Amino acid sequence: MLTTVMYHYVRDIPNSRWPRLKGLLPGDFAGQLDFIQRHYAVCSPDRVLAAAGGGEPLPTNACLLTFDDGLADHYHTVLPMLLERGLAAGFYPIGAAVDAAEVMNVHKAHFILDAEPDVGRLLAETWELVERCREQYDLPERAELQRRCITGAARFDDAETITLKRLLQQALPRPVARRCADELFRRHVTSDERGFAEELYLSPAQIREMAAAGMGIGGHGYRHEWLEDLPRREQVEDLERTRDFLHRILGRGPEDWILTYPFGSCNRHTFDLLERLPGCRLAFISSPGLEEDFSRRWTMRRLDTNDLPRDGRALPGEWTRKLAA
Ligand SMILES: [Zn+2]
Repeated sequence: MLTTVMYHYVRDIPNSRWPRLKGLLPGDFAGQLDFIQRHYAVCSPDRVLAAAGGGEPLPTNACLLTFDDGLADHYHTVLPMLLERGLAAGFYPIGAAVDAAEVMNVHKAHFILDAEPDVGRLLAETWELVERCREQYDLPERAELQRRCITGAARFDDAETITLKRLLQQALPRPVARRCADELFRRHVTSDERGFAEELYLSPAQIREMAAAGMGIGGHGYRHEWLEDLPRREQVEDLERTRDFLHRILGRGPEDWILTYPFGSCNRHTFDLLERLPGCRLAFISSPGLEEDFSRRWTMRRLDTNDLPRDGRALPGEWTRKLAA
C-alpha cells in the first residue's frame, strides 16, 4: 500500500511578509514528519519508481512525500529538515516559473488574497476587469462564469475565495484570466513580477543541488495549466516542454520520472500522451486516497498534508488506520 502526501508552502508564515498565506508551518511539518516516521516507511521517489517498474515491492506502510510548485520554501525549509532525518522526497517544479521567472496565476491569486483580505472587494474588482475585457473578447454571461466557478468541491476554501481563484485559474478564457491576474497582482502585490518570482521559486542551481542530495525531481507541467481544459495539441506541447525542462535542468537524458498534475487535472488524452512520453512512469492527481498497487499509474491518489496529524504523538487518524485494515 502506498500513501502519498502532497505539500505546497512550508514556511514560517506568521513572521513572513505574507502572514495570511495558507500553508504549513515548519514546526507543524516537523510534527507531521514525526508522525509519519512513527507509522510509515518513507520511500524515495526512486524506490517507488523501481517498485512501479516491477522491482522490489514496497512495504505495506510505504509513504512518498511530494512537494508541488517548485517553491523556494522547499530548498530553504524542507530540504534541511529532510536531510537531518535521512529522508528523500519528490519535488515538482513548474517549467515556466523557473525558466522565465513568471509568477503562475495560481500563486498570483494566493498573494493577492494575502495582500487584500477583503475577498468581496477583490471579487468586485475582478468582475470589473472582466467587464472591461468584453470589448475585446467574446465572454460568457456573468451567471455562466459564476456557474463555472462553483463546479467541483473545494476542500479547504470558502465560496468567495474559491470563486476568485477559479476565475483567475480556470473559468475565464486564458488571456482574460491572465490579464485580470496581472492587473490585480500589480495593484495589490508588486509591479516587479520577475523579482517576486525569483524569490518565490527554486532556481536551477537549487534544483540541481536538491537532486544531488538524493531528492527526486519530477514534472508539474510547463505552464501549470488545467490539462483537461487544453486541446490535445496544447497538452502535447505542455508535457513535452515539461520533459525537456527536466532534462535541461538536470543535465541528463531520459530517466524515469514522476508527474504531478497541476490542480490534479487530467483526462484520457493525457493518459494517452503519457504512455508515449519517454521516462514518465507515474502521475499523481490531487484527490485523497491510498494505492494498493500501480494499476492506476496515471491517476495515483495523494493525501493532502491537512489529512494527516501534525503531532508525532497523535493517534492514527482515518487514513493511517486504513493501513492496518
Ligand atoms: Zn501546483
